[in-house]
Amino acid sequence: MSIKENLQLLKNTFVNPECLLVAVSKTHPVEAIGQAYELGIRDFGENKVQELEEKQQVLPKDIRWHFIGHLQTNKVKYIAPFIYLIHGVDSLKLLTEINKQAEKVDRIIQCLLQVYIAKEESKFGLDEKELEELVQSEAVKSLTHVKIVGLMGMATFTDKEDVVRQEFRNLKSIFDKLKTKKLPPNFDLREISIGMTGDYTIAQEEGSTMVRIGTAIFGEREYK
Ligand SMILES: *Cc1c(COP(=O)(O)O)cnc(C)c1O
Repeated sequence: MSIKENLQLLKNTFVNPECLLVAVSKTHPVEAIGQAYELGIRDFGENKVQELEEKQQVLPKDIRWHFIGHLQTNKVKYIAPFIYLIHGVDSLKLLTEINKQAEKVDRIIQCLLQVYIAKEESKFGLDEKELEELVQSEAVKSLTHVKIVGLMGMATFTDKEDVVRQEFRNLKSIFDKLKTKKLPPNFDLREISIGMTGDYTIAQEEGSTMVRIGTAIFGEREYK
C-alpha cells in the first residue's frame, strides 16, 4: 500500500478527527517524508538528533519537527534552532539545557514532560512523584525560554487492550490533576501525546490530543 492510501485509511479510523497526527518518519528516507508532505502532512517525528538534522536541512522549512526520542543534554544545541516540540523531557537537567540553548537562539521551545506509565523497566519518564517535584521546584520557574505544553506517555507494549487503556487513563488523570494546580507561568498544559500505530484508537478514546504514528503510514522500519 502507498503512503497516500495508508494516510487515507488512517484518517478514516480516527475516533477524534481533531487529534493531531505526528507522522513518525524515523529510519525512512526524505523521499517518503516528501510524499507525506505533498499530501498535506506538516508534523513529523524523529528520534535521533543527527538523522533529524540531516532531514531538516533538505526538507521544506515549514515542517514542524517533533523530537520523540530520548534527548541527551549535549545534543540539544543541534536542534534548538528549529525544533517545534520536544516530547520526551524527563528531567530538570534536560529542561534547563533546552532553556539555555533556546535562549541562545532567541526562541521559546515547547516541551512535553514524559510520564512513566508502563509496566516495563526500560521506558523513560518521570513517575508521578518526580513530576510533582519538577513542577513545584523553584528552578523551573526561572526557565523563560521553554514552555511546557503538556504530557507524553508510552503504554506497555502488549496486545492486552485493558492494560493499555488503564495506563492512558492514568496519564489523563495525572494531566487533569496537574491542571487544577497553581502552575508556574511557563506552563500551559493543553497537549497529551499518547498513541502509536498499535494503540492510537484507545489513546484517542482516552483523551489523546496528538498521536505519534510511523508504521501505519510508512510501513515497517528497517534498522541497519
Ligand atoms: C517509533 C516511535 C513511535 C511510532 O511507532 P509506530 O508503532 O511505528 O507507530 C511513536 N512514539 C515513539 C516515542 C517512537 O519512538
